[in-house]
This record gives sequence, C-alpha cells and structure tokens, in this order.
Amino acid sequence: MDELIEQRDRNRESVMEQVVNLCKRRGFIFPSSEIYGGFRSTYDYGPLGVQMLRNVKDSWWRTMVQQRNDIVGLDAAILSTPKIWEASGHLKNFTDPLVDCKVCHERWRQDQIDGICPKCGSKDLTDARPFNLMFKTHAGPVESEGSAAYLRPETAQGMFVNFLNVLNTTNKKPPFGIAQVGKSFRNEITPGNFVFRTREFEQMEMEFFVPPQDANKWFEFWVNERFSWYVSLGINESELRIRKHDAEELSHYSSATSDVEFLFPFGWGELEGIANRNDYDLNAHEKASGAKLQFFDQEARTWYTPHVIEPAAGATRAMMAFLISAYHEDEVKGEKRVVLKLSPKLAPFKVAVLPLSKKPELCEIAEKISYDLKNKYVVDYDVTQSIGKRYRRHDEIGTPYALTVDFDTLTDNSVTIRDRDSLEQVRVSLDRLSGVLSERLGF
Ligand code: ATP
Repeated sequence: MDELIEQRDRNRESVMEQVVNLCKRRGFIFPSSEIYGGFRSTYDYGPLGVQMLRNVKDSWWRTMVQQRNDIVGLDAAILSTPKIWEASGHLKNFTDPLVDCKVCHERWRQDQIDGICPKCGSKDLTDARPFNLMFKTHAGPVESEGSAAYLRPETAQGMFVNFLNVLNTTNKKPPFGIAQVGKSFRNEITPGNFVFRTREFEQMEMEFFVPPQDANKWFEFWVNERFSWYVSLGINESELRIRKHDAEELSHYSSATSDVEFLFPFGWGELEGIANRNDYDLNAHEKASGAKLQFFDQEARTWYTPHVIEPAAGATRAMMAFLISAYHEDEVKGEKRVVLKLSPKLAPFKVAVLPLSKKPELCEIAEKISYDLKNKYVVDYDVTQSIGKRYRRHDEIGTPYALTVDFDTLTDNSVTIRDRDSLEQVRVSLDRLSGVLSERLGF
C-alpha cells in the first residue's frame, strides 16, 4: 500500500515537472525576463498560453455574466485612491505573518512552515510580524505620503465603490451581482509552485448583493455553482473538493468561507474562495466616503444594506489546474504519446489544418479551408515537418481535431478528421465540414 502511495506521489511530482516543461517548450508559459536570467516567480504567457488563459476567462464570463439575467460586468482601474484600502481594512489587515530564519536569514510565511526553516532545517526563527502584501507606489512626479498609491490586491473593491453607479445605470436590484476579471498584485512572501502563487496574477471575481435574510441560501448556491463550473470544463470530481474555513481561518470581513480546492501535484490547493462578506464592505465604504450605499426596497418602503456573497477565483491558477488535470501520457503504435485532454472550450486551437505534404496544390486548398474555419474558430494552419510530428504536436497542445488534406481531397472534396482522444479518423466532405465540427466541438 505504502509503495502504491509512493508511486502515485512520484508520478504526481513528475506531472508537475512535465507540465512546466511542456508549457515552456510549446509556448504556453515562459519564465519572465529569461534573457536576463529571470525575475523570481514571474511569468509571461506565450502564443498558446494567452489563448488558453483568454478561454478560461471567457468561459467564466459566459457562465457568470452572459448566461445570467442578474449579473452585470465591470472593469475598474487598477490604481485608485488609497482611501479605498484604508476603508476596506487592507492597509491594516491585509498581512501575512512573516518570520526570519536566524541561521540562514531566509524569510517565510509562518503559517506555511510548521516552525522549521524549509531551507536549512533550523528551528531558530524570529517571532512573526505582520507583513502587508500590498505593492506601494507613487502617483505623479512627487514622492510623498500624499502621492502614495497601491496596486489593487483584489478586484473586489472596484465593485463595492461602483455599487451606486451600477444601481443607478442598470435595472438591477438585489439579488444581483457585479463581475470583474483583471490583474491583481500581492507582494507574496513566498511565491512559487509555478503560476500557483505569483506576485502578479489574474482574478475572476463576482460580488452578489442580496437581501440579508437570503445570504445563507445564496452562499450555498454559489458554492455549488462554482464547483460545477470546474467540472463542466473537464476537471474530474475526484480531483476537487470543497473545504470549509473554521472560525480562526476566516478573513476579517467574512462570516463563512468555503474554498474549491484542486489536488495539485504538491497537495490540495485553493482554486477559489466563496465568502459571505455580510454588509462589511458597503458599510465600511459608506462610513468612509459619506455616500449612502444602501438599497431602497419599494415594497417594504425601507432602506437596507445588502449582504454580499463573493465567489473569488484565480484565472492563472485555474489555468494551471486545467493543464495538470488534462495532462496524459499513453502509448500509440508502441510509442509514448503526450496528450492534453483539454475541454474544447479551453484548448488554444480548436482545429489544426494539415496538408499532407508541401505540394502547392494541397497547401492552396488547405489554406483556404483554414481561412474559412477561422471565421468561427481559432485554427492552426501547419505545414512544417512530417504529418506524424504535426499530430504529436497538436496532441501535446490539446487541439481536439486535426484535418488532413491529402491528394484524394483534390478529387473527392473531402478531408480526414482525426480525433485527439480516440484517435478515430473519419472522412468528411467539405460541404459538411463546418456542421460536423460544430457538432463534435459542441459550439
Ligand atoms: P492564499 O490563502 O492562497 O494566499 P487567498 O485565500 O488569500 O489565497 P483570495 O484572496 O481568496 O486568496 O483570492 C481569490 C483567488 O485568487 C484565490 O483562490 C486564487 O485562485 C487567486 N490568488 C490569490 N492569490 C494569488 C497569487 N498570489 N497567485 C495566483 N493566484 C492567486
């Protein structure tokens, strides 16, 4: 039994290495500033990575905004008045406990290390002191306290400070939500595990404003909805769990939080937190700004402060989970094959169009097919290397379907569609191609 567990853990560790490797080799994610020797734990998204990350964010937006009647979108500025961070409690409370190792002088987040320095093994650590995670900068040419500004550490506050703007410009009333996708910045003490924890990352957050008495009901609703979203995009339920925070773990604003966690190669890690923030934020901003952040209930003829349920997810962290979950190795005709079994919704390319050889008459028709399909899908046209190598490349980057244009195409007006997962190949005539693809891809 122990041996089995050890074997499984070894496999999982190697999956992490393989995925990081594949991301670099195929152009998903590059270490940032590489030609200068790198810049710790920052990453650049390459041609395939930017496409996939966009698909993750688009899928979230589609589910959270486009397909609902009760949620609207927002794109707030990254920079804002520091008064927001004072009112929200971030200046005071957005800290992690920092300890120094007195022997090797490395710094750690106390809650992540169990009292032992992970670098040198010493137990001789300083007392923990709060370290504020916000990046501080200055707006304008004068560097004084009066010009201090902070890069946002979460997108949520943009939704709270625009609560009235949204109420006044839409026909929404509680229960309704405001959704936002964008960059956030945290000066993490120990970034790492690839893009799991970085200092610059992307979030997908939604603030759902509800009558206070309905908060618990909506909390449960959103925990279940958000869990299902990851499943709908291909993560197996056995790799996911919901973890409830106990009282001492709760953030300063929250009365209940549940995390959706994924089984990463290094253990369970949070993908998303769903929090009941009560009326904490609207109250805090009302007090600090003087604006009345309440809703007038016409029927009851009373003002009240809505409570907030917040599902807060990381786009970059989710992308990493989708990649790990999709990574598979199998054997085809006696050779090892690496295949990313990504949901077609997330795959960077939906279709690859591959002329069998570089002969101009094949390339001409293949290129035309690719341009036709590009009106609807992100499609790769690839004429380099042998057809076997091109299939392998597209398996490795998760392209669900490859179309091969061969010499018969010139006479029978048909192409071969190869399925990434089943490897089944079928001949389809060009006039049926678009319909067949749309049926198979599901969109
Ligand atoms: P942690 O406890 O891991 O530091 P958190 O609970 O502070 O995270 P939240 O404030 O709830 O995280 O942020 C919501 C989501 O944003 C997280 O679930 C995660 O997906 C993402 N996220 C937070 N910090 C980072 C980071 N440093 N790098 C990448 N993604 C992050």
